Parts: sequence; C-alpha cells; structure tokens
Amino acid sequence: MSQQIRTVAVIGSGTMGAGIAEVAAMSGQQVLLHDISADAISRAIDGLRSRLASRVSRGKLTAELADRALSRIVPVSDIAALAAADLVIEAAAENPDIKKALFNQLGEICPPQTLLTSNTSSISITAIAAGVKHPERVAGLHFFNPAPVMKLVEVVSGVATSAEVVTQLSQCVLAWGKQPVHCQSTPGFIVNRVARPYYAEAWRALEEQVAAPEVIDAALREAGGFPMGPLALTDLIGQDVNFAVTCSVFNAFWQERRFLPSLVQQELVLAGRFGKKSGQGVYRWPEGAAEVTFYPAIPAHCQAAEVKKESDVVTLDELLLLETNGETAQAAATRLHRPVVVMDRSDSNVVVIAAAASNRLESTEKAIYWLQQQGKKVLLVADYPGLLVWRTVAMLVNEALDALQKGVASEADINIAMRLGVNYPRGPLQWGEQLGWQRVLALLENLQRHYGEERYRPCSLLRQRALLESSYES
Ligand code: NAD
Repeated sequence: MSQQIRTVAVIGSGTMGAGIAEVAAMSGQQVLLHDISADAISRAIDGLRSRLASRVSRGKLTAELADRALSRIVPVSDIAALAAADLVIEAAAENPDIKKALFNQLGEICPPQTLLTSNTSSISITAIAAGVKHPERVAGLHFFNPAPVMKLVEVVSGVATSAEVVTQLSQCVLAWGKQPVHCQSTPGFIVNRVARPYYAEAWRALEEQVAAPEVIDAALREAGGFPMGPLALTDLIGQDVNFAVTCSVFNAFWQERRFLPSLVQQELVLAGRFGKKSGQGVYRWPEGAAEVTFYPAIPAHCQAAEVKKESDVVTLDELLLLETNGETAQAAATRLHRPVVVMDRSDSNVVVIAAAASNRLESTEKAIYWLQQQGKKVLLVADYPGLLVWRTVAMLVNEALDALQKGVASEADINIAMRLGVNYPRGPLQWGEQLGWQRVLALLENLQRHYGEERYRPCSLLRQRALLESSYES
C-alpha cells in the first residue's frame, strides 16, 4: 500500500477542513476541497486568501509562495472526483451517520490504496471503518484547532487499521512539519481524555466554593505553570463545546464517575453563557477574569519566635506548615493535636494555602508571615483536600497512567500529546515521576477516603509504580 502522498482530498471546508487544506497546500500538495455547500468552499478559500495576504503584508511569506499555495486548492463539488486522491481527510459535521455514509461512499469511489481518514474528535474509528471496503486503510487523523498553528496530530488506529497505514500517515504528518502521536480508537483519544480532570477539578472547586473563579485560575496558571486557568480556558473553548466533550467522554466510558459532568457548567450552558463568544461565561468578556487579591503583608510582630524546617515540614512555634498530602488541614490538625496550615505545590512565587478551622488566626498568620518572608505571594482558600494544583496534577497523572495501562498510547506519546495538544508545562507521566508515584498515590488515597467516591480511585498502574518506587528506596 506504500505510496507517495501527492494529492490530498479534504471533505468539509468549515473551521477544521479549511485549516487542514491550508496545511497540505502549504506543504506542496494538491488539495481537492469538497463540501456539500458550495458557499462553504468559497468562504474557506476566501478566508485562506486573506490569511495568506496578511502574512505576505507582514513579510512572513512571499507573494509567490502564497499564490502557489492558493493555486493548489481545487474546489470539488462532485465527491466522485475524490477518486484521484492519495489521502482523504474527512472534516465534515460530527455526526456518526454522516461520517459512516461518507466512508461507505469513499470505499466505493477510491482505489484500495487510498488512505481514508477522519478528523473526528469523538466518533469511534472502528465504527467508521466497519463495512468500508478495505477497512485496514481507514484511520483517524485528529488535528487541533487552529490546524495551521497547532503542532500535534493524533494518528488513530481502529481495530482494522494496518500498521503500515499508521506509518504512512505519521510520515505525512511529519512532512507537514507537525508532530504525530499514535493512539488507539478509544473515547477522547489521548488529549481529550487525559485533559478531562483539568476542567473537572476546577468545576469541583467552584462547586465546593473553595475560592472565586479567578483565584482557582490563578492557582493553576501561576503556581501550576499551566498556560491558562481551566475556567478561563473553558470560556475560550466555549462552555457548550467543552460540556459536550465531557458528556461524550462520560457516556462513552459507560458513565464512569471520574468523567462526571459538572452541574455548574451545565447551568452556564442552559443559560446560554457560552463564554467569550457569547460575551459571558464564567467571566464577562472581553474583560475576562478580575485581578486576584493576595493576602496582605503581615506585620513583623506576628512572626513565630521559633522556626524549624525539616524536609517538607516547617514548624513555627505551635503551628505546622505542611505540603498537602490530600488530607484537609483540619484532618491533619486533629490527628496531630496542633494548628496546621497546608500548602499547595508551586513552581513560582505564588502559593495556595488553607488553614484548619480550629487554628487561631495568630497561628495561621505565622505561616503566612513566614511564606511572605520567603518571597511568596499567598492565596488563602477554604480547607480543601489536595488543594488546587496538587489535586489537579494527581488526577492528570492518574488518567494518563490509566490510558497507558490500557494501551491507548505509549508513555512518550502521552507526554508529547499533552505538551503540544494543550500546552501543559510537563507531560503528565514525566510529572508523576518527578513528584513521586508514592506521593501521588497517597494524595489520591486520602481524597478517596475523604469523599468516599470512586472518582479519586488510584489506577492499578499507579499502585504498581508506587510499589516499585518504594522497593528501589528500601
Ligand atoms: P464546521 O461546522 O465548521 O464545518 C463542517 C463542514 O462540513 C461544513 O462546511 C458543512 O457544510 C460540511 N459538511 C457537513 N456534512 C457534509 C457532507 N455530508 N459532505 C461534505 N461536507 C459536509 O465543523 P468543524 O469545527 O470544522 O469540525 C469538523 C470535524 O472536525 C468534526 O468531526 C469535529 O469533531 C472535528 N474537530 C473539530 C475541532 C474544532 O475545534 N472545531 C477540533 C478537532 C476536530
């Protein structure tokens, strides 16, 4: 089946199809652009013409290259003309009946060596391929929006997809200057599955009234190192779109509790508060999130008389300042019979803390004073097990390990996918290794104990890695 890909057909010339056509045309391939709507094709070509013109006027592209790319795109109204393509990329509406009908037709029209791919975000590639002539040439080619900008492409195998087809598609993606990762056709593939806790834990914190939305976002952005807070990100993606993806993954996993959609998000969707595009979501737009207010400077006379620091524990007179292990500050205070402040993970000068309800304010402020003296800006939130960064990262690690154990993708590809698909500061499996599997496990076990919910159940591979880690240490 091995062949050079010279002609690419793109079906659907909406947001994704137009971007994918641009990628292929800019790489020198002939592009047959097909849509049921002739207007949609004209809009896509006009849009591309003005994007290229803007790059020419900014000196990013020569007029000659722009003209050549445009001339490679051929509008095609009759689907039968796609017989000339070496690779077909379907980016039509996200509807299983539409996609199945298109692929059955393509199976008849295209010769057996033509690669047939879908850009679907949520429909099973196995289901799309079933019944198509030569189903071994059917695969997923999942681009991210905007396709010309985002580096990642998930190459998705259905049950029948051949290894040779995956190799050919991966080489083609590399030739486009993009990064392929390979995964099996499972709900959400890699990115849309492993990213679910990033949103889910933020909605949970909002539901439990841990802090204002801008504080939750600031914690993940400033202390966690994520490029955008999860709530602001859902406003940009669109609450309707993000909620639909969550519901789709939840239902596709037979209503697995980890993926349970949020009632707070559903209310926003029902109210038509879709985020930036509708002018209001979690925040009002274009203003976006309000500035966060850090804890005011504590006067020097409030400081502890005696300070001791041993590994992760700081003793400030009667008070203990601990990095969270998934217990609430109150649980630790009750267990240790002394005032406790718990601290979140931070890679910057912003740190999130919570105080036990039984602390006296003077004790809590000794911890805040000490942190401020270390140059930290403090966000005090409600006493919440696992706090914001640690809890989110632990859930991302758990999800990534579950996907790895179930053969969705390799460890390297999961890390690459999350760094390039959603710009996480680290791959989740690298992060887990760095934090320590035993610590991630302990945190999730404490969360599970606290809530009694399956949602926080550590996956089997996390337990295995934690055991192995402890055996290396002993
Ligand atoms: P869109 O609504 O912008 O465009 C879809 C286009 O497909 C429209 O122009 C429509 O006329 C055309 N179409 C519908 N039925 C057709 C048919 N039977 N034959 C030919 N053309 C047909 O949608 P989009 O956002 O570009 O999404 C397209 C696909 O890409 C979907 O499967 C979606 O899940 C997937 N996807 C979307 C994104 C995203 O962020 N928008 C990201 C990754 C993947």
